[in-house]
Amino acid sequence: MFDPQKYGSDQNVVFEIGVHRDLLRHIDDLGVKRVLILTTPQQSSLGLDLAAQLGTRTAGVFCRAAMHTPVSVTEEAVAHLNEVGADAVLSAGGGSTIGLGKALALRTGVTQIALPTTYAGSECTPILGQTENGVKTTMRDEKLRPAMVLYDPELVATLPIPMTVTSALNAMAHSVEGLYARDRTPEATELALFSLRAFQASLPRVLETPTDLEARLETQKGAWACGTVLGQVGMALHHKLCHTLGGTLDLPHAETHAIVLPHAIAYNSASVPETLAPVAEIFGSTDPALALWEFARDMGAPLALKDLGIGPEDLDRVADLAVQNPYWNPREITRPGIRDLLERAWEGQAPAA
Ligand code: NAD
Repeated sequence: MFDPQKYGSDQNVVFEIGVHRDLLRHIDDLGVKRVLILTTPQQSSLGLDLAAQLGTRTAGVFCRAAMHTPVSVTEEAVAHLNEVGADAVLSAGGGSTIGLGKALALRTGVTQIALPTTYAGSECTPILGQTENGVKTTMRDEKLRPAMVLYDPELVATLPIPMTVTSALNAMAHSVEGLYARDRTPEATELALFSLRAFQASLPRVLETPTDLEARLETQKGAWACGTVLGQVGMALHHKLCHTLGGTLDLPHAETHAIVLPHAIAYNSASVPETLAPVAEIFGSTDPALALWEFARDMGAPLALKDLGIGPEDLDRVADLAVQNPYWNPREITRPGIRDLLERAWEGQAPAA
């Protein structure tokens, strides 16, 4: 039986169709009194619905969560939280909203409840990336991990299909890199493989019927496992390169990850062939990078960085930046190798080592 609790985290994790309409019982379990609901501006109506449901237990609704957790937004939210007197935040959204909840917990000690609406997986990690004056810094602290995560497939069922696909591939990237992480463990490997099997089996079903809540629930189990892997082990080339691309060229987060993943795996696969062999097997191929690329293509994912609006002249600059700060990777990071990888990803070609 699927039991997230067996994986050592003291998070309270619930997977249940319709759980977002039955919040009071869970809030009572946590012993919190008044909840500040957080959303992005685009998801404010979800925030208002949740506020109506919680009635007098709602302290307020703050609908200005934004990508990469700008410190200026966090400061406004802290002021609001203090004014309304909340002892908990309910983060209803994707990584951006959950990031704001973490930033508030860090500064005020409030209890966090997460209602994820994407597959990004931030709700499972003790990691927070914050942006100030255009610079993003990342930190890790156990008090950042939400106390409770309520996965309701009704909430991801509203994700448009292109976002469903890129968000799923973004999540899968954590598991694939987790397989060869320097600090990997048998438990993280088990979770990573579980998550890849879950997405391989359920994402095509979701694409066929986006409102299939059982299939959506399976993708959320995959997302939980991917996020848990990210919380347990370090990432390498794929994440560092996406960070450089995103930070330098202001690219959309999930799309960038979706495009780069097969190319980063092609770069690394000859150095860790046995570790990555199960990826090829799960996706029905002999080569892990090609297997991921074909899966992404079959799911209708974007395949080319040039389609995100970046020009060929940007590739040299990104390659220069990507080799500036050394980090651990199963294969040595070289400027020509990274330039070549970027060229293939820019063109949308099949991956090659
Ligand atoms: P997001 O939270 O930025 O959401 C993107 C857009 O989609 C927003 O406009 C949002 O309102 C909308 N949206 C979200 N769910 C929706 C739904 N179900 N239906 C319709 N629209 C919906 O996107 P994301 O990819 O989940 O998160 C990206 C951010 O999370 C990045 O800043 C990334 O760095 C961070 N992140 C952090 C961690 C971590 O562990 N700290 C992990 C993964 C991602």
